[in-house]
Amino acid sequence: MKNDPIALDRLSDAVEAKAPAFTDLSDRIWAMPELRFAEQRSAEAQIALLEAEGFRVTRNVAGIPTAFIAESGAEDGPLIGFLGEFDALAGLSQEAGVAEARPLEAGGNGHGCGHNLLGAGAMLAAVSARDALREAGMKGRVRYYGCPGEEGGSGKTFMAREGAFDDLDAAITWHPGAFNGVMSIRNLANYQVYFRFKGKAAHAAGSPHLGRSALDAVELMNVGVNYLREHMPQEARVHYAITNSGGVSPNVVQADAEVLYLIRAPRVAEAAALFERVKACAEGAAIMTGTRWSFEIDKACSELMQNRTLEMALHGNFQTLGAPGHDEADLRFAAEIRRTLSAEDIASEVASYGAKPEEGEAVLHEGVLPFDGTPVTQAGSTDVGDVSQIVPTVQAFGGCWAIGTPFHTWQVVAQGQSEHAHKGMVQVAKVMAATALDGFRDPELLARAKAELRERRGGRGYECPIPADVLAPPLRRKG
Ligand SMILES: [Zn+2]
Repeated sequence: MKNDPIALDRLSDAVEAKAPAFTDLSDRIWAMPELRFAEQRSAEAQIALLEAEGFRVTRNVAGIPTAFIAESGAEDGPLIGFLGEFDALAGLSQEAGVAEARPLEAGGNGHGCGHNLLGAGAMLAAVSARDALREAGMKGRVRYYGCPGEEGGSGKTFMAREGAFDDLDAAITWHPGAFNGVMSIRNLANYQVYFRFKGKAAHAAGSPHLGRSALDAVELMNVGVNYLREHMPQEARVHYAITNSGGVSPNVVQADAEVLYLIRAPRVAEAAALFERVKACAEGAAIMTGTRWSFEIDKACSELMQNRTLEMALHGNFQTLGAPGHDEADLRFAAEIRRTLSAEDIASEVASYGAKPEEGEAVLHEGVLPFDGTPVTQAGSTDVGDVSQIVPTVQAFGGCWAIGTPFHTWQVVAQGQSEHAHKGMVQVAKVMAATALDGFRDPELLARAKAELRERRGGRGYECPIPADVLAPPLRRKG
């Protein structure tokens, strides 16, 4: 039954028939861009449509107000989850449909990573897979996960720590991008940690000998870490932002200061080891300055675990279903967006998908990227990593933007309500639903995917990189 073109034709028609409510949802979420863990209206909009489709909704997953699970189908048979997101980014407010930077609101938020499409597309796949299951009278259950705070919050990792994904047989998701194809990525695990220093205030001229500067400690810690770079694994990355410099008065010795570190390495154990070395820099800085130091883990996430079994199934469906078609208007707008990008931007983006330079010449992707099971290396991180360590997980890229569009830019926001973005979202929803149906029809496929995960993990169970006592950001007491 796998890749049965007649079955895929019917599925494709059914997805198209359902699609308008979901493209409309993606537009509405685009228009209310909410930051990590504050996505109340976006989550409610998703829940309303899922309830209208007959899904049972569980809110407050892992105690997080905007995390939810929606479920539909029979109690017995396989259980397949679709992962969706809905958070936006700060500073990327942008008018839709124009090819120049034009904020709707100065300093406002915008959907610069396309998560308005991501959530709605995964929902369309979940609903369509459930409908097809029902129509065929097959056993099985579908879940949609409303996952908050992907941008810098690792919402899924907090949900994973509470066991939210433990009973799934497979997880399917996607990300909007410039190309159509399997998203098979080798990326980085990370820890995000606040380091705080406490010193002693004093008049910086009158009694400097009595002061102990927390800002000096932050600066010396950063110097230490910058020397550490030469001696850390090649693929590791460390970034920091000074989140409290101790005040605006140079004539006061700064008594409090804080720096936020993001520490990345290919495997979570390597990131944890690097974190220990960064801690040593903090301790050294505290000793040098006579200050006290402490740290607070903000969040962490694991690296992605590839699942070739599911990736090959998804790739087969993408090849059969093909790319969405584009009309003159789609190509014209995408060409205008391309004119705002440098050749260097475009080449770098094309390479990040593992596409060949010549594939970067088109304005919109009209094909499906070839895939032989070899993952592409990327230096970023995603909280999908933790789900992929627990349950066989597969991701797709859906061609929603002009080729070369960099993530987290106004150009993404400008294309977020476009016809070509909607077409990319609907097409990838078909591919995801088809891949779920492969699993429902063929439990052997799911068994092979699980065996592959077990083998890759070498028999080790999942260990959440976020310690048990670290609360999810919305549950923390401020101050
Ligand atoms: Zn994203």
